[in-house]
Amino acid sequence: DISYIIRVCKVKVFISKSKEVFYMLKARNELATLKPYVPGKPIEDVMREFGLTEVIKLASNENPLGCSPVAKEAIIKHLDNLNLYPDGNCTSLKEKIAKLYSVSPSEVSLSSGSDEMCDLLSKTFLDHGDEVIMADITFPRYISTAVMMGAVPVIVPLKDFTFDIKGMADKVTDKTKLIWICNPNNPTGTMVPTSEIIELLDSVSEDVLVVLDEAYREFVTRDDYMMDSENLLSKYPNLVIMRTFSKAYGLAALRVGYILAASSIVTEIDKIRGPFNVNSLAQVAAYAALDDQDFIKKSYDVNKEGKEYIYKEFDAMNVPYAKSETNHIFFGVEKDAFSIFDALQRAGVIVRPMGAKHLRVSIGTMEQNKRFIELIKDML
Ligand SMILES: *Cc1c(COP(=O)(O)O)cnc(C)c1O
Repeated sequence: DISYIIRVCKVKVFISKSKEVFYMLKARNELATLKPYVPGKPIEDVMREFGLTEVIKLASNENPLGCSPVAKEAIIKHLDNLNLYPDGNCTSLKEKIAKLYSVSPSEVSLSSGSDEMCDLLSKTFLDHGDEVIMADITFPRYISTAVMMGAVPVIVPLKDFTFDIKGMADKVTDKTKLIWICNPNNPTGTMVPTSEIIELLDSVSEDVLVVLDEAYREFVTRDDYMMDSENLLSKYPNLVIMRTFSKAYGLAALRVGYILAASSIVTEIDKIRGPFNVNSLAQVAAYAALDDQDFIKKSYDVNKEGKEYIYKEFDAMNVPYAKSETNHIFFGVEKDAFSIFDALQRAGVIVRPMGAKHLRVSIGTMEQNKRFIELIKDML
């Protein structure tokens, strides 16, 4: 009796290959308004869909140079150990990061990409009804993880595509628990000087967690950006600095990110994170990659050159864009952004539409940038 099985076991039951019966088990109320994250389209999907053999992906801010060769070597050396569980504490990597940034290993927490860290921070600190301050156009994981916990997102619009830090400070109430600052910001590429963040830290109580997402720090060219923001941790115990190996380090596939934060924060996260949340290939690759700062320098140079080339071309076409301190450029179009996205895709270049009038393009190799410009010139 299928209906009996469904009722008792609360499972999805397959009657045959063509007929599927679902038992709709009600999920937590908080999930009702959430939708799955939509990532940049994979190259294989676009090839299949449009019958293309060559596709350039400038949609997910990936490193067009790949990753450091020393990271690859480290992975190959580790391939004989796939039967073993990873070091759940990431001891070696943690110690290396701690040493590099002059913090204690107890002030470092690793995660499966900083994506997972958004999730872990929200699960660790957000109670139902807590307010979480964030920008309107920023990394989408901040809002989804807040909603997931039944917290209340407080959205502060960007000003000139840039974080309005004073506007955010004005929204702090006694219910505020967390403030997300993406600096520089994805998708607009803009940054705020660290001095503004220090003012915010001075104005909020220590009960408010301020998370500084520095996913793109390695690409910043301006000198009013504090590269060693970890030095603020001793003065502001409510500051969390979040970084990743996915962008400049080119290890997005491996999923490894981390925070630098007070050890009491790390201890709370340790209670709920998966015991082996960072796999061992990711650990050895990230460890090795930290030694290859030449690769980071090269990535920075290629990115800077590509950025200036795209600016020059956009200027010549009168395409409006936000000045970027990242590896992507947010630009405006008069036509419908989705139809431009679609046309580019058919021609083998994947970008990211951002609402009806904007798109985001990741900076690629010079050859990829030229292809993108060539196509968009025709379309606009
Ligand atoms: C890409 C990105 C991340 C996530 O990176 P992971 O691959 O999960 O480490 C975090 N924050 C911002 C702003 C990003 O753009």
